[in-house]
Amino acid sequence: MKNKRSIVTGASRGIGLAVARELAARGSDVALVSRGGCDVQAKAIAEEFHVRAFSFACDVGDSCQVQEVFTAAIKALGGVDVLVNNAGVTRDGLVLRMKDEAFDEVIATDLRSVFLCTRAVAKSMLGARYGRIVNIASVNAIRAQAGQANYAAAKAGVIGLTKSNAMEFAGRGVTVNAVAPGFIDTDMTAVLSDEVRAKYAAQIPLGRLGQPEEVAKMVVFLASDDAKYVTGQIIGVDGGLNA
Ligand code: NDP
Repeated sequence: MKNKRSIVTGASRGIGLAVARELAARGSDVALVSRGGCDVQAKAIAEEFHVRAFSFACDVGDSCQVQEVFTAAIKALGGVDVLVNNAGVTRDGLVLRMKDEAFDEVIATDLRSVFLCTRAVAKSMLGARYGRIVNIASVNAIRAQAGQANYAAAKAGVIGLTKSNAMEFAGRGVTVNAVAPGFIDTDMTAVLSDEVRAKYAAQIPLGRLGQPEEVAKMVVFLASDDAKYVTGQIIGVDGGLNA
């Protein structure tokens, strides 16, 4: 990843931070994006890995903010080779009780953002005839889970966008793939009770929740030149959950 320039959304913690760190460890400059910005994380990455690391505050579901912030991020990096669409939220609830806002927020943050951020880098990548886009989907887009209608719909949409964008960009050297994590040990799953976490772990053939770094390794492989003949794919990193 030496001399590559990468943008990672949702990079303040969890999987996104692990991805930004792994990209930087392999020599890529990185722009870290989250609603609150990632000043501390970017500073730590620059010091530890001796790359340029920038922090940007942006709600990735908001079209105007994405336009403005991505223009600034591409300018700061001097171009963009890699985009990792990782930002996401859950607002779980049964359909009968789910408020419109809970549905709309998850669709905006988890799905619309992928469209907005991809569009914001597309001109630059297509012009350069090089690019790697990796979207973070979820095992829950493929395997049913009660109480996650909004999240499952958004993540299934991410899979559709991944395949469609892969077809649109293939002729210009830009690959688009998705990683579908299973249950990963982050703040998103920390809200679950010990009992629920143990129940999930019991369903996973490898017998435990995954670590953010284990997802990051796959993301960085797809972002690397080793994956140059891979596009339009959805790769599970789920301990065998969807086998
Ligand atoms: P975390 O909750 O740990 O982190 C989410 C990240 O997204 C934070 O950096 C957060 O920063 C950022 N974020 C949230 N909303 C927005 C927004 N509107 N605009 C910009 N940034 C935003 O989540 P995980 O690391 O667990 O999840 C990362 C991705 O992986 C998500 O897409 C999630 O759906 C997916 N995933 C996670 C799984 C898991 O088990 N953990 C399983 C399958 C998929 P801030 O709050 O500062 O904005």
